[in-house]
Amino acid sequence: MQHKGTRLEVNLDALAHNYHYLKSRISDTTKFMAVVKANAYGHGIVKVAQKLQDLGTDYFATAYTEEGEELRENGIITPILILHAQQHNLDICIDRCLEPVIYSMEMLDAFIAFAKAKQQQSYPIHLEFNTGLNRIGIDPEDIQEVIRIVKSSPEVKVRGLQSHLAASEDLNEEEFTQQQITKFETIAAILKKELDYEFLLHEANTSGILNYNNAHYTMVRSGIGLYGFGNDAKHDAQLKPISSLKSNISQIRSIEPGETVSYNRKFVAKDPTTYAVIPLGHGDGINRIYGYGNLKVSINGKPAPTLGIICMDMFMVNITGIAAKVGDEVVIFDQTVHTSRQMAEDAGTISYELLTGIQKRVRRVYIDTLSK
Ligand SMILES: *Cc1c(COP(=O)(O)O)cnc(C)c1O
Repeated sequence: MQHKGTRLEVNLDALAHNYHYLKSRISDTTKFMAVVKANAYGHGIVKVAQKLQDLGTDYFATAYTEEGEELRENGIITPILILHAQQHNLDICIDRCLEPVIYSMEMLDAFIAFAKAKQQQSYPIHLEFNTGLNRIGIDPEDIQEVIRIVKSSPEVKVRGLQSHLAASEDLNEEEFTQQQITKFETIAAILKKELDYEFLLHEANTSGILNYNNAHYTMVRSGIGLYGFGNDAKHDAQLKPISSLKSNISQIRSIEPGETVSYNRKFVAKDPTTYAVIPLGHGDGINRIYGYGNLKVSINGKPAPTLGIICMDMFMVNITGIAAKVGDEVVIFDQTVHTSRQMAEDAGTISYELLTGIQKRVRRVYIDTLSK
């Protein structure tokens, strides 16, 4: 089917390919957690999660409680981890059967109080220890206090122990990463000795899966890999970017030397110039960094650089010398040559930021041939 208008085409076949590839890199007994925070990195949390649930993912992770709620409201019955639940909405975790990551002593106390008030028994929680990222996490020094509290609180049960690697994608930091791995294993050993039940161990994100086989443990947490990127050319070659951002030309104009384009007249034509107006802008997630030629879209197979400032709802590209008419397709990024990773890197940012910034008003169109 021929789609028109600004849309993000999401290829669920490619998502399935990435899922199977990442699974092939871990052992059969290691569980797979699909990270679908930030609207599944911009691809649409519900459709992506439904596909991954069909594929058999063991767990989901979202950043915030509201994202987990949205999954529950849309038929996701797989366990869901909330990476960054906050104290003011811990009760929602219990109401929606979401498993919170407990990342501080205050939060542990607060969650146990909620669990008590809601008459819970053995409610699953995941304990996050800081091993070097220095973001959220319980201080390893507090392990004995954590054990004391957990053992005396039948309302909760440790379902998982987690930490997060600071530099799993940067092999120059291997020594630091191995130190994080060792710290994590030390904490795990202490906890194992004290608890008379099994719990999951998870520390690796996508780059952790691909670069550190010794950090897979009993579960891995993958986000960007599912969406097609491995933070390294060698890994990227095995994965498939799952989305293309496309639009259609709204208008074509020609100007004479000395005339200017867009706000504040930042583009001044030196030669007779023909340009096209494209209906998306920073209100859709095409940040101002992409102006002034920092992005080249593809029109009828030819590269067309941006002219001047990106507006909120549109931007202009130079099509001088390109045969094009109103309505022709514009490819902002695609799944093969000019991927979101390439587009982001050309402008000095990363695919994570570009993809998660694609706004709600950009229609998501799903391609799913394999399940039909
Ligand atoms: C976002 C996130 C992940 C996923 O990371 P990727 O690099 O996208 O695979 C895993 N764990 C935590 C704690 C995260 O915040």
